[in-house]
Amino acid sequence: MEDCIFCKIIRGEIPCAKLYEDAQVLCFLDINPINPGHALVITKKHYPTLFEVPTEELKACVATAQKVAKAICKATGAPGLNLLQNNHRSAGQLIEHVHFHVIPRLPQDGFLTSWSGKPYPANQLQQSLEKIRAEL
Ligand code: AMP
Ligand code: ZN
Repeated sequence: MEDCIFCKIIRGEIPCAKLYEDAQVLCFLDINPINPGHALVITKKHYPTLFEVPTEELKACVATAQKVAKAICKATGAPGLNLLQNNHRSAGQLIEHVHFHVIPRLPQDGFLTSWSGKPYPANQLQQSLEKIRAEL
């Protein structure tokens, strides 16, 4: 993809702070980290979101995220870590090339400390369950 910023990084047209790469994935530090060590794992091929990624490449992303997550936690001393993956604008995706955020977490860092989950209204859990199962 000509104009995709992550494809430009893969082609070497834009620099990145590279942590790891193999035939299928690249991992580098996010330029605006939640905490130091925040990294991104991306596929080398351009896929806009999670929905388009073939299973083998998805496995490579998650395996790399795990490998890098261990290194980040050891190196930074972070006691926690989030693996985060945004799809489409409504979910906060800004760059339309699939990527996994590997985010070391520190106590009181103010990121995602809680969210306001709400119980299902009557019957809605069952309806949701049946509709989703029908799509699988
Ligand atoms: P998202 O909102 O999930 O699409 O996240 C995109 C992420 O890419 C953000 O956290 C940005 O800070 C990060 N980012 C954007 N451009 C670069 C770049 N050139 N190098 C490293 N990270 C980048
Ligand atoms: Zn791309």
